[in-house]
Order: sequence, then C-alpha cells, then structure tokens
Amino acid sequence: MVVGSVKTPEEAVARIAYLSSDVVISVQPSLSNASAFSAKLEELLSSGVKGVLTASNGVPEIQTVRQNADPLLSAFQPMRSGKLVSVTATSSILLPSIPHLYKIINYPVVIHVSLQPSEFPDYSEITSIRQTGLILLQSESTQEAQDMTIAAHGLAVKTGKAVVHFFASSSDDSEISNEDALLLGRALDRAAARTYQSGKIASTSLYADDGVVAQTSNSAASVAVGTNGHTSGLVTPASEASGIEPSSNGTSTADENSTRPSLTSISSLHDAIESRPISSDDIYKHSSTIFEVIKQVTGRSYSVFEYTGPRNADVALFVFGSTTGLFRSTITRTAGDDYSRRPWFGAKLAEIVPNSISKIAVLEQIMNKTTKWGPLFLDLLTCLRTGAAVKGAPVVIGRQLGFITPDTPRQAMRGVVQNLKFRSPVQNLSVGLEDVPTNAGHKISQPAVEAAYMKILDQLFGKRLHIANSLDKSNAGISPTITASPEYGYGSLLARMERRQAFIEKVEKLAKSNDFTTRIPAEWLSRWLIVADDEAKSAALVPGIIMRLSVDGSPAAYDLLSDKALFYKESHWLIGSDAWSYDLGNSGVHHVIASGKNINMLVIDSQPYSEHAVANASRRKKDVGLYAMNFGNAFVASVAVYSSYTQVLHAMLEADKFDGPSVVVAYLPYNKEDDSPLTVLQETKKAVDIGYWPLYRWNPRGEEEGEKNFSLDSERLKQELQEFLKRENHLSQLVKRNPQFAANLSGSYGTEVRQQQKRKAKDAFNKLLEGLSGPPLTILFASDGGNAEGLAQRLGRRGKARGLKTLVLAMEDYPIEDLSTEENLVLITSTAGQGEFPQNGRNFWETVKNSTDLDLATVNYTVFALGDSHYWPRKEDKHYYNKPGKDLDKRLADLGGKKLANTGLGDDQDPDGYQTAYSEWEPKLWKALGVDNVDGLPDEPPPITNEDIKIASNFLRGTIAEGLKDESTGAISASDQQLTKFHGTYMQDDRDLRDERKAQGLEPSYSFMIRCRLASGVATPEQWIKMDDISNEFGNRTMKLTTRQTFQFHGVIKRKLKSTMQAINKALMTTIAACGDVNRNVMCSSLPQHSAFHAQAHEAAILISNHLLPSTTAYHEIWLTDDDDKKVQVAGDAVVDHEPLYGPTYLPRKFKITIAIPPHNDTDVYAHDIGLIAIKGEDGKLSGFNVLAGGGMGVTHNNKKTYPRTGSMLGYAPLDKIRFVCEKIMLVQRDNGDRKNRKHARLKYTIDDMGVEVFKSKVEDLLTWKLEKSRPFKFDSNIDTFGWQKDENGRNHFTFFIENGRIEDTPEFPMKTGLREIAKVHKGEFRLTGNQHLILSGVEDADLENMRDLMAKHKLDNIQFSGLRLSSSACVAFPTCGLAMAESERYLPVLISKLEGILEESGLHHDSIVMRMTGCPNGCARPWLAEVAFVGKAYGAYNMYLGGGYHGQRLNKLYRSSIKEEEILEILKPLFKRYALERQDGERFGDFCIRIGMIKPTTEGKTFHDDVAEEDAEDEE
Ligand code: SF4
Repeated sequence: MVVGSVKTPEEAVARIAYLSSDVVISVQPSLSNASAFSAKLEELLSSGVKGVLTASNGVPEIQTVRQNADPLLSAFQPMRSGKLVSVTATSSILLPSIPHLYKIINYPVVIHVSLQPSEFPDYSEITSIRQTGLILLQSESTQEAQDMTIAAHGLAVKTGKAVVHFFASSSDDSEISNEDALLLGRALDRAAARTYQSGKIASTSLYADDGVVAQTSNSAASVAVGTNGHTSGLVTPASEASGIEPSSNGTSTADENSTRPSLTSISSLHDAIESRPISSDDIYKHSSTIFEVIKQVTGRSYSVFEYTGPRNADVALFVFGSTTGLFRSTITRTAGDDYSRRPWFGAKLAEIVPNSISKIAVLEQIMNKTTKWGPLFLDLLTCLRTGAAVKGAPVVIGRQLGFITPDTPRQAMRGVVQNLKFRSPVQNLSVGLEDVPTNAGHKISQPAVEAAYMKILDQLFGKRLHIANSLDKSNAGISPTITASPEYGYGSLLARMERRQAFIEKVEKLAKSNDFTTRIPAEWLSRWLIVADDEAKSAALVPGIIMRLSVDGSPAAYDLLSDKALFYKESHWLIGSDAWSYDLGNSGVHHVIASGKNINMLVIDSQPYSEHAVANASRRKKDVGLYAMNFGNAFVASVAVYSSYTQVLHAMLEADKFDGPSVVVAYLPYNKEDDSPLTVLQETKKAVDIGYWPLYRWNPRGEEEGEKNFSLDSERLKQELQEFLKRENHLSQLVKRNPQFAANLSGSYGTEVRQQQKRKAKDAFNKLLEGLSGPPLTILFASDGGNAEGLAQRLGRRGKARGLKTLVLAMEDYPIEDLSTEENLVLITSTAGQGEFPQNGRNFWETVKNSTDLDLATVNYTVFALGDSHYWPRKEDKHYYNKPGKDLDKRLADLGGKKLANTGLGDDQDPDGYQTAYSEWEPKLWKALGVDNVDGLPDEPPPITNEDIKIASNFLRGTIAEGLKDESTGAISASDQQLTKFHGTYMQDDRDLRDERKAQGLEPSYSFMIRCRLASGVATPEQWIKMDDISNEFGNRTMKLTTRQTFQFHGVIKRKLKSTMQAINKALMTTIAACGDVNRNVMCSSLPQHSAFHAQAHEAAILISNHLLPSTTAYHEIWLTDDDDKKVQVAGDAVVDHEPLYGPTYLPRKFKITIAIPPHNDTDVYAHDIGLIAIKGEDGKLSGFNVLAGGGMGVTHNNKKTYPRTGSMLGYAPLDKIRFVCEKIMLVQRDNGDRKNRKHARLKYTIDDMGVEVFKSKVEDLLTWKLEKSRPFKFDSNIDTFGWQKDENGRNHFTFFIENGRIEDTPEFPMKTGLREIAKVHKGEFRLTGNQHLILSGVEDADLENMRDLMAKHKLDNIQFSGLRLSSSACVAFPTCGLAMAESERYLPVLISKLEGILEESGLHHDSIVMRMTGCPNGCARPWLAEVAFVGKAYGAYNMYLGGGYHGQRLNKLYRSSIKEEEILEILKPLFKRYALERQDGERFGDFCIRIGMIKPTTEGKTFHDDVAEEDAEDEE
C-alpha cells in the first residue's frame, strides 16, 4: 500500500536515501541551518523508521556535517567499515571535492546533489566531475527524483560503485506518494548489500587510494523483462574506453494503466565464484535491469536515452539542463520537427540517433563557461565523429543554454533549429536568458559577521591592501567557488607581483626618458624608485606623485596613472575559510607556504566551539597554523577578534612586515550568519579559555632579530601546539622565562578527568567515614545562591552529631554510578531560572531523568526544595515553583526509591522564608532514621558573619597577603574575598565560561575587578594613559567608567593583582575603600559650563573623601610593598592599627556620598546615603550644601522589607563644616545600623526605623550645632549634555557618548585607541560623569581645531544617537558580576535598537527618556529612579518599572514581573506611540505614565511596594 506524501524532490531523495543506507551524511550550510533534505531525515529518524537495507538495529545513523567541512571525508570511515553510505548535499560541494572523488568511486556510496541555485540551476559542476569515473544519474521532477534515487541505490549496491544523482529542485512540481514498497524491495539487492556490509576494508590512510576495486561476476543476471522493456543507463569511469560520457536519465513516461508483471529475481553478483572488475557494460546492464524493475512495478519507463520526435528528422537537439521537459513537451505538440536528447556512451548514442539526422545542436546549461567549447559538446563530438561512427556522422553545433521560461521553449527551439538549417550553422550561440536574476544568485557571499576582520585589514593597510580573492571582485566568467580558492588567489597574487615588477621597470625607464611634459614627474619617480620596496616610505610619496602625474597631461603620465595602485607596496592577502583546513583547501595553502613568497593568508575559522566536540574524529580539520609552523619559513598567528582586538592588530601588522609567507588563523565562531555579537563573543571566550583556540604569534626569525620566536597571547595552549613547541625545544625556554606557563601547559582537560576527580573525592570521604559506626547518610545538594549548600552542610554537621556516617556533596561532584548503592539519601535543591536545576545539579538530574537501568529499590530518600511561590506571577507559570525538587521526588519514586519523609517545600514567601518549612521537615528525617531522640547534642557554632570576618581581620588584613602567594588556585579564601572589597577589589569568575570549565574539570575562571577611588571623577590625561596601559597589560583590555564616576578594570588574574594595584598607585590614584563597608568614592556633578564653580565643588568632594578614608595601613602593607620586603606592619608588629572613625568593625554596610550642582542632578543626589546639593552664595561662589540622607537603591526581589529610597532633607550646612556633617551622619549609622541583617543594614533603613527627625537630632547632637533650613534649588534633569559646550572662562568641553561606560576597541569603533591618542595631546582634564560618559574638559580655543580633527578621525565626535540611547545606562552584570541574574550592559543597547524604529516613527527620536537596566536588584545603575527601568530576574527575564521622575526625584514602581523581550516590546511600542500623541506640553515620560494611570506614583521608599500595577496572582497550591 502506498501511503504518505512527498512534496519536493529533496524529500523524495531524503526518504529513499534513509531507507537504503546505514549512514546518511546530511550536509548543511551549518549545523544549525537545515538543508532541504534534513527535515525529512530527522522526521524519519525521530519516528524510529527502519531502513530497508540498514544493518545492525535497522535504524540508520544521520551524520550532520557542515558544508565547508569537507563533507565527503565523513563518508570514508563508514564506507570502509562496510556501511552503506549516502550523502545529501547541494552541488556546491562537488567542485572542491574533486581531488578525492576518485577515491570513493569503488564504494557503493550514493551522493544526492540538488543543483544550485535552485531556481536557475547551473550544470557546470556536474560537467566538471564527469571525468572522475562516477556513475551519474539525473532526474527532473519529484517523481523522477524518487525513482532515480531508488535506481541510484540499486545501482550502487549492485555494482559496488559510487553514484551521483543530481537534480534541479522544482518548485511547481506536484506532490507524489511515498515509494512503492514492492519496488524498493526489488530494486535494492539485499543480498549484495549484506555481502558488502559483512566485509570490512582494511584501514588505510584517509586520503590514500586503498586500491579497492568494485567487482562483478561472470554469472548472468536473470531478469524478467516486462512487456514494454525499454531501459536506460549511464556513465562509466573515465579510465575506461573513450566515448563513455556523463549522461542523464530522465523523464518518466508513466503509464498509469500498465499492469505490473511480477519479477522473478535479480541475481546477486556477489554470489558468484569468479569475479572481475565492473565494466561499463555491466553498469549499463544493471541500470537497464533496474529501470525495467521500475517500469514493471510502477509503469513509469526510463531509458538511457530518449529520443523524441519522428525517426526521419534531419536535425536534433541534445539537451543537458533542467528544461528538457519543456523542450520535449513542445516537440510532442509540434509536428514535423525532430529532436533528440540525452547523452550516453558513444556507441549507444550512435545507435539511437536516426541515420537521417545531419546536425545536432548540443545545448548545455552552464553558467560560468570558461572554455570556448562546452564539455558535452566535445564529448558528443568525440563519440559521434570518431571510429566507425565518423562516416556520415551528424555535424555537432555547440550552444549555451540559458534559462528558458515555460512560455518560451518554442521560441528558443525555433532559433536553434533555424541556425541548424544554415549550411554552416554558427557555433557557440546561446539560447535563453544568460543573466540569472540577481535574487537567484549562486554567489558565495562573505558572511556579515566576518566583516570584522576585513575592517581591521582595511584600517591597517588602507590603500596598500590588496585582497587577491575578495568575493566582491568580478572575475569574468570564473566561478566564485574557484576565485575563492587558495590556488586561484595564489596565482593571481603571483601575477600581481610580476605586474608590479614590470611597473617598477617601466617607471625606471620613464624616469630616465623625456616623455613627460615637465621634469617634475621624473624627479618624483626617481625618489619613489629608491623607496619602492619600503611600505611606509613609498606610500608617503604616492599622493604627491599622483598629483604631479595628473597635471602633467602626457601619455606617459596617463599610462602610469592607469596603474596607480601599483605605486603602493601592497600588502597582499588571501582570505580563506576553515574549508582550507580540510584536505580540499590544503593543497592551495601548501602551495603558498612552500612558495616562500611574501603572501599573507587570513584563514577564518567559523566552527563554533561547541561543535568541535561533536565533530567526527575522522574528518577533523587540520590545524593550518600548526601546519605552517612545521614548515619553518612562515610567520604564523592565531587570533580571535572577539577575544583580543589588539592582538589581531599586532598579528596582522607583523604578518605584513614579515618577508615571506604569513598565515593568520582567525577565529570567528558562528552558527548563523546573523548570530548576535554576544553569541560569537561567548563562543570565542570558551574556545580561547580552554585552549582550544590559543592566541599566539610565531615568528621563525624572531630570535635572529633578538626577539622571541613564540609569543603566547592567551592563557592556555592546546596539546598539539604544546607538542610542537616541545619538539622545537622552545617550550623549555618558554617555561624558563615564564614559569607560569608550566602549570597551564600541564593542565589536563576532559570529562574523564572530571570523572576521576569525582571518584577520588568520594573515595577519600568514604575513608574518612570508615571510623564512624552509625548508618550512612548521603546529602547531595544543587545550589545557585548558596542557601541549599548552606542547609546541606548544616544538615551534614547535625547528622554527624547524631552519629551518622554523613557525606555532603554537590550533585555534580557525586559519582552517579554509586546511586543505587546508597542507603539513605537526602537531596536538597534550590530553583533556578524557569524552574530549572541550579547549574551544579543539572547533569545529575539529566542522568537520573534519562537513566533506564537505575534501580533504587534499596534506597531510602527524601528531598528538600527551595523556591519562591510568588516568583512567577502568571498562573500558567506557577508549576515552576520548586519544580526541581518535585521532579526529583517523583523520579526517585519511579525508580523504586522509598521515602524517608515527604518532600519539604521551602518558600521565600513564608514568614521565615524557606526556614519555615525546613524546621518541619528536618525532624521528620531524624525520626525516620531513628536518631530523633539523641541526647547531648553539642551546641552548633553560629554561622560566621561579615562582622566576624571584619573583627578577625586585624584591620582588613586577613590572610590576603598569603592568599596572593598561593599559586595552586586563581581564587582567594571566602573571608579574604570579603576583606579585599575594602581594598577596592572583588573576586569574580567569568560566568560565560562556568559550564565549559566545569565540564573540563577546571576551577572557574577567577579574576578580579578593581575599582579606583577618584573623587569627582576627574583625571589628568597622563592618568588616562596610565589607566589605558593598566587595562591592556593587566586586565581584559577594556575599562568601565562606572555610575559612580570612577575607573573599573575587569579580568585581572590573581598573579597580576598586586602589580595592578601598584600601577594604579603609581598613576596617583588609589583603590582603598572603593568598595566594602566604608565610605566609598565621593561623586560630584561634572558641570562643564561652570568650571570655577565645579572646581570648588570638586575640592569639597576631595576634602570629604579624604576626611572619611580608613586609617588602616594594611592597604599599603599588602599591595604597595615589594614581594621581597619582609611582611611587617608599618610601625612594627607591636603597634596595632586603629580606626578613629570606623573602629574595628567599620560600617554595617556600604556608604555612598554624592554632590549635585543644580540644575544638574547628573549624580542622582537622591540615591545615596548622603546627597549634597551645592548652593551658590551671593558672591557666586559655593557657600554650602543642602544635606539629604538615607537614599539607597539595593533591593531583594520579593522581599518587601527591602526597598529603594530617596534621601530625606536634613537641612543646610556651610562649606567649611560639610565634611563634619558627613562624618557625623556616618557615625550615627555606624552605631545604629543593623549589623545582624545585611539586607537591612543600609542607612535608609536606620533612618526609616528611627524616623527622620530623631536621626537628624542624633546627628546634630554629635555636631553640637543645628543644621540650617534647606535653601531653595531646582533640578532640570539627571542626564548629560552631549557635544561641545563653552565655560565661563571661554574654554571648551566635549561630552562623549560612551555607551554604558565601556571603553573598548572594536573593529567598527576603535574608541579606546582614539581616546588614548586624544589623551596624548590633551592639556586639560577628563571628567567621568555619573551617567558613565566622559567629558574632554578644558580645551583652549587654540587647540580646538586639532582636537576636532582627532575626534573626527576616531569617530569620537559622533553624538547622533536617539534621545533614548543618550539617556540610558546599564550596569555590568554578565559575565563578571556574580550577582547578575540577567544580562544588562550587553543587552540594553540591543533592546534600545529594537525600540528606535518606533521612536522614529512617533517623532520621539530626539526626546530624552531615561531608561536604565541592571542585572539584579542590587541596583548599581540606579534603576529605581529611571522613568522606565528593567531589573534582571532570571536569564532573559526582567521586572519592568515605570513612573520615575525625569530628574531623579521620584522612585518608579513595578509594572510587570519577569517579562521577556517580546513582552517588553509589546508594552513599550504602543506606550511610546501614545506618549507621542497624548503628552502635554513639556510633559516627561515618567509623569505621563502616572497621569494616564498606567502606574501609581511612589511617594517615598516605604510605599514602593504599594499599589503596584500587577499583584501576584493568588497561589493555588
Ligand atoms: S546591579 Fe546587580 S548585576 Fe548589575 S552590576 Fe550591580 S550587582 Fe551586578
């Protein structure tokens, strides 16, 4: 019975290929971009459909391979191990595969190829492979594709030879039914297949010809021939007799009414005793047999040739292309004209051409014709006009067949026939459309993401850059596949070099001649000749020469100008892809390197890191870099633009300078061409970090020039490279010079290591437990924030105290094979993301979930889960609440586990959070284990708090100094992590790399963030340059300008930490008290227009900052003494430090002070513990400050006891007393702040708990005087004013737009380099703003032009951004911030881009709307004061807040919880539109949202959680 339907030729092919193979190699543009075949293949696989010929379990294996990954390599291994292999691909794989196609011809592999471009297929790739000896079959419709696929597989099995089946995808074809099972059974010789499948071919080198010869026997095939017997067949190897041609097969002439005679049998050639190599006759015979079978079963008849038309015709067409059907149907309708079609073996063709035919036109559908005569023309000529056939043979006329539309074949034929009727027909005309409509272009295009490297080449070499094989070059008539090849590029570069040599000789001659109108050009040319081979010197002369030649007017001058690019000593580049790393491009690469010529190659590898692991070992890429290094004469660099931009620059410059071949292998991993830069960045980081893609430069002549041969620019090396260096004896020298490499080099990777680690850890624990007597209790936890782990550890201690043999492990550290041997098992898990397992429990869960043979019948277990029942506001998401715990419980029960106690569900919403449920659950566990009534339990030590750490630290020393010396880890101890904050540095780990490093058995990628202390954010140009140096030398080559006006470095590894601190101090900055429970950096409005006033406020900020500095000498002692200094406390061990202001426990929590100068609230004066509003006296000078206290941002999601707060006005204080006011406020907080609960420790809670008035009076008591009444002031906005402004002294200030404060170089915008160039000549200062932007301050008029030019040169003068973007800011969040729940700095710009269209449409492009984003509710970018804000809740999900005041005076309020981008856009787009239409004059967006009732205003911090727009739905559980 025939069931199912098949819509396209590809579907038909995929289905039959699947049914007829052991392995299908599915070639795709990339692993994530499906091909036209892959959906069907996957559908069959996922339904577990069994193959007809498939050995083993009957379900074939599908191997997905990227198009440029040398797909046929994947066929070798299975082919040689006796597997039936088929390949589904587009024709673009054929040309590059030619070098090894001949190696597969003697295997029964079938390659199905859809011709490209699909609308206007080009047959040139097929003609190109016609000499390889493959059997070729063509089909033209879906039905034919189905039949020919069956024929192809039948033929491959029967003959043991490789078959290529090619077809053009037809879009207007009708649907057909699935194949006839009877047909499949009969056309595929199962016995022959089994014989092949049972024999393995001895393993030989992948690329070597292993000498396999397809065999056949002498026994005759007995075939029952049907009534309309009429067969067709195809090609043989070129090695056989001439006259064997590629041939097409074709159209079915289905006879629906034909009966189906039964076939008796098709004999198996492999049964034969005597065998001999397959001949073309055998192939003909077998194909005829199979066609006969098709005809008998289906009634559709196929023949090797088809001749359509009367037998007495005198002219004929021979068609090779996709439109034979059109021609044929036209012929059938047209009486009197005679046409034949389809090529074949010479003899067979001669047989079928009627004697009456005197002329044949060969129509070849080949787009990029590179020779005068078409390949088929020549073939036909050979077979019809040689040997016996020559006498009376028809005249053959070649024609190029363009694209024929269904309405024009008649017209086309008429033209062809008319020409044939001439006595001497014209050769080589074309018929049909020659130009392919552009949308059908068969172009290889440069993926957009790869533009990054092109831009860098362009920036570096400008006019000197010559790319030999650039894709946008038009190379008349040459296929882009060829022009993109290294061979082509190499040849063209050699020609280019010769041309320049000839050009130099020409110039030499002309310089001596009198051919110019004046002597001037000759003089210039003589100067040029001396430096022609010097890149820079010759380039410097070129504009002058061109100018002189242009005005000379002589023919000689014009002649030289026509080749003016040759005046430059060009930088010659060949650009290639990772396809060059496979065999198919390797020979070209080899040529270039072996030539020793000065040619640079840039080979871009785009294979995503995550794909490399799944790559089939047998077709792994060659490491082009290593290959070139082994050659010994090439400069080699391995770079990755998303890892280090500057390293790419160095590598390219060095490659250009190197006189000889250079190979720069460049990493740019992407799945799809429109992958976001963030995805590319994350893939790059993983690859570089793990050492899969090391960054290095290798100059084989380095040592001759007194330099290093090898520079390692990343941290790790991969094994192969390590071996190379060892061989080269450079490794030992390298390690000697840089001992830290030793550890990196010997680092071992892989999951096996990880397994061993787990085993070892558990065995060690078991040993420890041996001494104990009680029953065992294994506690496994999965924890994100540390709560689950804390509970597990505590439970473990309590278990031990009860005499149990207790083992506590993270789920990921547990060797899961032991699970069924456990006696008592406790699982504690928190809930991550959308109801997922925390990272360190994911693998454990996946294994438990998917295991089929885990038997837990003897295991007693219980689960405790931690979650938040209100976390998901939408009803449909409620089931995420404690999902991991519930899932675990269910699965363990399913596996036979017995419950010790019911699952405990800890809920953050309970009065005591998760502790509420926990305190009920734990006693049940002890009871079940029979240890509930144990006497004499010891008191549990209270948990160590930050307060304990501070007290024990000896004024912030802890064991920091010792920890820095420990080279066995990149981390420092937990308590030191708290203490280093006071010194301005946090330990972090790169969260992009966590999973990958874990899988590799490595500790997280620890590094340190360092924050400078820089009151008011004012830095000198010298300081700027030093900061830039520090980021390059010690950090991740970027700097962050923070929301608190200071420099922040990321990615400083432990062993560089101390040097970095010293470098910062050498730049006359410090990091002391930049973080920690102390007063931090004091901010101040940047005020470019009023420099004198700014100077006074700035001075006050410095005074306050210095006044409140901690006094401990620990900072100096730890960071600023040299390593060989004896570790002594300054003033000797005997004298103990003391802190007059802070005392030994410092403050309960962080403390922040800012100054704002009205009308600019650019430092968000309401958001800090102390906000000082500068007040001008009558003399125009700073007289004093209004004092606000109790502002603060940090909040915990769902914890209503936490809230943001704006500062309360305490009154006015004069300038000379202000630092004392700040001090006393700080002291009241020091003594009254909550030291028990860090979530309630900020000044804002102290004030609210105490009441503003009481607080104020306590301050005044300490001051012993009263604050005055606050003075009037007015704020306009809290954003920056971009562009140029003049101050009262006539000096100029320019505010740059620095998106989210990140100073970095990218290929699109090398901003960091630009700012450094500016700093080199700037005479004023730099001011960092509280909105993370930068002001170039104090430029004199005289320097203005130069500065403008410099800024323009580096594109730093661009401030043409939307008002929304200019008013936005985001915190760092991923990947470094440990608290981040969602992206922020890397995502906000993307979100804004998605909103800009609607802003533009609504006429709001220039309107300022303050939008802020943070990755967590800690609120570093002060989101609660923005008009619209997003605060991260889970990866990709944000809480949305609306209604903040435009100048930072009013808090916003929650509008929606946990929404994703789609919903954000759904809300904001219409809202912006509405704002544009309905706003009142001058009304701000935040105010508008309140007026229209979208959101209620938040009047003070305490009401932040009231009247939110979206109340949590009632919990149904
Ligand atoms: S707001 Fe949260 S995520 Fe963003 S930097 Fe601060 S702590 Fe990290």
